[in-house]
Amino acid sequence: MAAEKRGFVSVDVAECKGCGLCVEACPVECLELEAGLNAYGVHPAHYTGAGCTGCGICFYDCPEPGAIEVMKIREAVHAPAHQG
Ligand code: SF4
Ligand code: SF4
Repeated sequence: MAAEKRGFVSVDVAECKGCGLCVEACPVECLELEAGLNAYGVHPAHYTGAGCTGCGICFYDCPEPGAIEVMKIREAVHAPAHQG
């Protein structure tokens, strides 16, 4: 079984142009366009808050540098016991 890599995304609404490419591209459909408008007068993308795998597809599909950021959540790693 493949290890699950959970993540989350952060959208900078000031940079987002509301093109919706990330929404269309997300394989788990955890992005949507907000109902409200940003300073450009468009509906910015918004993370629904659950389900992101951290795959990064939205990041690579976004045409606006800095509009969307993907972060991966790593599993806690148990440190080895201190040795002498
Ligand atoms: S990183 Fe992947 S799963 Fe997460 S919001 Fe972007 S496209 Fe969707
Ligand atoms: S692809 Fe980028 S610019 Fe387009 S809606 Fe998503 S975050 Fe905004």
